[in-house]
Amino acid sequence: MAASKIDIKLYKTQEWVDWCPGCGNFGILNAEQMALAELGLDPKRTVIVSGIGCSGKIAHFVNVNGVHTLHGRAVAFATGIKLANPELEVIVNAGDGDQLGIGVGHFVSVGRRNVDITVIVHDNGVYGLTKGQAAPTLPRGVKTKALPEPNINDAINPLLLALASGYTFVARTYAYDVKHAKETIKAAITHKGLALVDVLQPCPTYNNINTKEWYDKRIYKLENWDPVVRSESEIEDKITKAYLKAREWGDKIPIGIFYQNEAVPTYEDRVEERVPTYLKNPPAKQEIDKNGKF
Ligand code: SF4
Repeated sequence: MAASKIDIKLYKTQEWVDWCPGCGNFGILNAEQMALAELGLDPKRTVIVSGIGCSGKIAHFVNVNGVHTLHGRAVAFATGIKLANPELEVIVNAGDGDQLGIGVGHFVSVGRRNVDITVIVHDNGVYGLTKGQAAPTLPRGVKTKALPEPNINDAINPLLLALASGYTFVARTYAYDVKHAKETIKAAITHKGLALVDVLQPCPTYNNINTKEWYDKRIYKLENWDPVVRSESEIEDKITKAYLKAREWGDKIPIGIFYQNEAVPTYEDRVEERVPTYLKNPPAKQEIDKNGKF
């Protein structure tokens, strides 16, 4: 990671940003470019891995290495990239439909591994690219304009799922508060371990319920809140408080860093520890006979 700030222009591409006017994705894009610039991350050593959906286009708009992957598989690609070259800064950008629907298995599994990457969920409750079907974070009973009937499924809370899966940094921010989003993304990137940033991202074209006005009335920032685990004895208390706070939804919606624990070894550290042990004590060589049997 470079130490000094880099000009934000370096992180912009010439691609036409074709999201709908007013889309929350613009806020995420700006916040992410500002975060990279302020952290002074070398574009050549930074990778954005995106999934399928409106959010997936972000890999084309940020001038770093970009991999626009398969639906639901961005986290799996990102894990492979990080393990192949742990020196790279790897960021996943994908929607709630991508990561918590088809990709939910990867979202959970990467938590068990604590791979040192940043996972950003563009959380708008709809599948915007395919005309606004209900996505995993849309609450039951909500009827957005593309739905013939109210949503019949309960919503997944990305923060609760991340806490339960082993993410060691769990945060929520808001796409229209670019400064907050930028600071949250910066904290997630600098965190050693797996970080979730759930970004509440209004989709003005298809989600006519959770609009900017709807969020503006409800969102508040966590204050007098210490998310950092400093010793093992604090884990239970901090994770329980984070869990309860993350459940708050309705008239009041908190944003901020809910939980952070850097004491858990990353997957990269675990592998590094395992490899020399393996090399020192390789398993006994097995000969295969002419019939192909051991
Ligand atoms: Fe944004 Fe929704 Fe338009 Fe997609 S459909 S670009 S999420 S406003």
